[in-house]
Amino acid sequence: MVDLSQLNPRQHEAAKYIDGPLLVLAGAGSGKTSVITRKIAYLIDACGIKAHHIAAVTFTNKAAREMKERVNALVGKGGAKGLTVSTFHNLGLNIIRHELKTAGYKSGFSILDQDDCKNIIRDVMHREHGDDGDMIELVQNSISNLKNDLITPEHALQVAQSPQEMMIAQTYAVYQRMLKAYNAVDFDDLILVPTLLFRDHADVLARWQKKIRYLLVDEYQDTNTSQYELVKFLVGQRSGLTVVGDDDQSIYAWRGARPENLALLKKDFPTLKLIKLEQNYRSTGLILHAANHVIDNNPHEFEKKLWSDKGYGDPIRILKCRNDEAEAERVATEIIERRMRYGCSYRDFAVLYRGNHQSRAIEMKLQSFQVPYKLSGGQSFFGRNEIKDIMGYLRLLINPSDDAAFLRIINTPRREIGPTTIEKLSEYAAMRGTSLMSATTEMGLEQVLMPKAVDRLRRFGQWLEGITRNAYTDDPVAAIKELINDIDYEGWLLQNSGTPHQAERRMKNVWFLVDSVAKMIDKAEEVGDEVTIEDAVGKLVLRDMLEQQEQEDENDQVQLLTLHASKGLEYPHVYIIGMEEELMPHRNSIEANTIEEERRLMYVGITRAKRTLSLTYAAKRRQYGETASTTHSRFLDELPQKDVEWEGKTETSAEEQKQRGQETLNSLKGMLADF
Ligand code: ATP
Ligand code: MG
Repeated sequence: MVDLSQLNPRQHEAAKYIDGPLLVLAGAGSGKTSVITRKIAYLIDACGIKAHHIAAVTFTNKAAREMKERVNALVGKGGAKGLTVSTFHNLGLNIIRHELKTAGYKSGFSILDQDDCKNIIRDVMHREHGDDGDMIELVQNSISNLKNDLITPEHALQVAQSPQEMMIAQTYAVYQRMLKAYNAVDFDDLILVPTLLFRDHADVLARWQKKIRYLLVDEYQDTNTSQYELVKFLVGQRSGLTVVGDDDQSIYAWRGARPENLALLKKDFPTLKLIKLEQNYRSTGLILHAANHVIDNNPHEFEKKLWSDKGYGDPIRILKCRNDEAEAERVATEIIERRMRYGCSYRDFAVLYRGNHQSRAIEMKLQSFQVPYKLSGGQSFFGRNEIKDIMGYLRLLINPSDDAAFLRIINTPRREIGPTTIEKLSEYAAMRGTSLMSATTEMGLEQVLMPKAVDRLRRFGQWLEGITRNAYTDDPVAAIKELINDIDYEGWLLQNSGTPHQAERRMKNVWFLVDSVAKMIDKAEEVGDEVTIEDAVGKLVLRDMLEQQEQEDENDQVQLLTLHASKGLEYPHVYIIGMEEELMPHRNSIEANTIEEERRLMYVGITRAKRTLSLTYAAKRRQYGETASTTHSRFLDELPQKDVEWEGKTETSAEEQKQRGQETLNSLKGMLADF
């Protein structure tokens, strides 16, 4: 039987309360997620609700994985069988999969990533509005916001007021039609489609309400309108709902999150019970106090208190470094040193930063000191656009029915094959039950498309067939090189990269990929194996998947992640780097005057730390190829100054620090040499 004795009285009450909808509103580290996991165990063990009738949703895959592990530990794998613990998006995907037909999709539908969608939008805008690409970001974000607010294209067209809104609504309408024709959804559709499905099909809704008897939602403050609607539909008139959240940790307004959903709950569920938790079990007193102090600068709708009985702990350190490289070196050497001094593991350290690009310097240092690290959410080799493009071609070479690959590359580089052509081609291919690639060379196309379009498609199809033949009968690597030259990919990169230098770097990645294929074939030939291009590319695809899986592996590694990605997680020792104006708070937020959201992000960052917290900044930083002086972040001044230790704030101590850094480095080198 589940043991709730470790919970404090309020947590206990929250875990056992099943008479109506419940909101647990509480600050960081107060055990909100713990309440959810215990409650799931309680529902299964004590209330006899079958695990497959329970669904818990949270914000990131990492958080979902951790939650599942915690539940498994409480009720055993057998007891948790069939339990849904996932992100909102995964839950949505699951619903679409089950209701494919009603939702208007065919089996084998694909989920397009941000870049694929951007390409579609680029083409639609180019064709319909003669846009040369300047507005793409804006339009893509606007479409995403419309979807998150549950606004359909028809609705958007009706309410558009300015010419720009009209243009966005029109693009949205064509874009949505294209996705349907491709039998594809985008990320936002994963929530939008099920929600509309529930709205329009009572039988589908009834089925899902019957399946999910109890719904638990973590990080509720970051749900957007469509996610909230999804929750309301699933819960219906019943009482099976527990949501937990903290308005001070709302950090996704830019993705449509509506923290006011917390207040709306009371309106939509009049019998809502509210439980507040006040004891923080995560951090030392000083860390908690610092977090409360910073967030006090924001206005507050809900009154919350938070205390800890963990003692004061170490003071919070602010480390001024000469430049970004010195900052990375300082953090890396400290991690090595502290790990030995405290006898802890690499995984006990997390380095948090505002933007993904900030991880590079730290990665380089950790690599050079041979410290294992795990980068979450950064871009892997196979995640790069240029690699996805060329992999798209390679995938088509080995599998002409790979429609997703076809869609990725048909207009990369641009071939003036417009959205309508592709739409018609898709319809034709679906009717004939064939792939997009083989449809390009079919005779029947003339009946559905203009001669010019047929010609362009046919030329593309025949060209790629030729390359494919060469790849199979002749030298595969030569065929791939021919392909890359034929499409003038280098020229395309030059046009589509920020700087020539960037284009050059991206082209290098492409040649690295081609080299990998060549090496695989050479290696096999050395041992007398016959390796086809199919094997080689197949292996690369597999490596891509393995790389993704590896990222999920929890080894003993220093954790590198953005402040956004760190939500809900905790680490004994936390470094937040780049504490400078324009980095944290981010320049865009300063300009857009959304400092309060940045402050909440700061609060999230501080409250990840259990034992020690170190904040670093660089006096000079290299950005966009130039080195400039920086100003330290305003958030550092908002910390309770009596509890923090500024190191190297004055010039002389900066010198000392340099000296000290060098000494630490030397002694470390000595220590490492002894190993
Ligand atoms: P966040 O707002 O950051 O998501 P949270 O409110 O979800 O935090 P948890 O992650 O559930 O907090 O808990 C924080 C830490 O406190 C965890 O290590 C958890 O195991 C521990 N904890 C929670 N409740 C108790 C308790 N009653 N006794 C001891 N430890 C607890
Ligand atoms: Mg939590």
